[in-house]
Amino acid sequence: MKKHRNIPIFVPHLGCPNTCVFCNQRKISGCEKADFSAAEREIEEALATIPAGTDVQIAFFGGSFTGIDREDMLFLLETAKKYIDAGKVGSIRLSTRPDYIDEEILDILARYGVRSIELGIQSMCDDVLAASGRGHTSAQTERACNLICERGFELVGQMMTGLPGSTLEKDKYTAEKICQMGACGARIYPTVVFRGTELEAMMARGEYESREMEKVIAEGAELLEIFARNRVKIIRIGLQASELLTDGGETASPYHEATGELIWSRYFRNEAEKALSGEETAGKCAYITVPRGSVSKMTGQKKANTVYLKEKFSLAEIKVRESEELSGEEIEINLEERKRAYAT
Ligand code: SF4
Repeated sequence: MKKHRNIPIFVPHLGCPNTCVFCNQRKISGCEKADFSAAEREIEEALATIPAGTDVQIAFFGGSFTGIDREDMLFLLETAKKYIDAGKVGSIRLSTRPDYIDEEILDILARYGVRSIELGIQSMCDDVLAASGRGHTSAQTERACNLICERGFELVGQMMTGLPGSTLEKDKYTAEKICQMGACGARIYPTVVFRGTELEAMMARGEYESREMEKVIAEGAELLEIFARNRVKIIRIGLQASELLTDGGETASPYHEATGELIWSRYFRNEAEKALSGEETAGKCAYITVPRGSVSKMTGQKKANTVYLKEKFSLAEIKVRESEELSGEEIEINLEERKRAYAT
């Protein structure tokens, strides 16, 4: 399988008319004119670092791409299309809002070589959307997802957890709906309260309470289970460091830079716990096999998972190894007598 690389181009939604309570982009004045003249240089620079044979997408991230000034959108699409026509880039990827998707927009996107559309779904519960000031409904999201999938685009669902009015049950419902609506991938963003946002004001008025990290991690792991069961690939969990730096990146809620890694670790711990439950484990050695690149997720930070599992199941030892043969989020556990374990 070809390696995949995105060339990210940040497209702020200048003068966005929406009022999402968590948004820290709205301070940017609506009078400012966007300057995308650097896009071509950014693409060239990125291309120079990408090996031949890679599946490359130019990715317009950061805001609601199909809601920005139409001239700007067409300029960026034309810029990207030149690289597709020259065979240097495979396709375009973008992120947008559900209410900025219709037949006409999809016609334009298809014409310019867009393959993947990441939709800011955030929640599929109307009360949560309203309390978060999103300005669209779950019915609009459902319609957008149907249109995107019917037209053959790849759909990626972005959801936020811990939004105002949400609960674990509501977040799980959103995750299930994203899978049902045909997404091939998902991004999960635990809500972060940035300084200066309406959400911070809500917190000060006692109308919103941020979650402790332990809750963010435990609940995030439950959502991963839903996506894994439905074979929907998780592209990312949590904001990137660069996104945290927007507006100085000051947060008014607990935040851990490694939120994604911690949630993955809890997911693997839960899976191992499920597999070991009901087995004769005392004094045995557990060989845990995980997909390539997942050993640290399984062992956990400072070996927290292996220490936890060893103690809970009275295991003599735990060995974690990776295998090319496992994919996605699969794990395999073999229990062996301690004697044999030392002999191998
Ligand atoms: S998060 Fe909401 S308010 Fe902020 S730019 Fe996006 S659509 Fe606009």
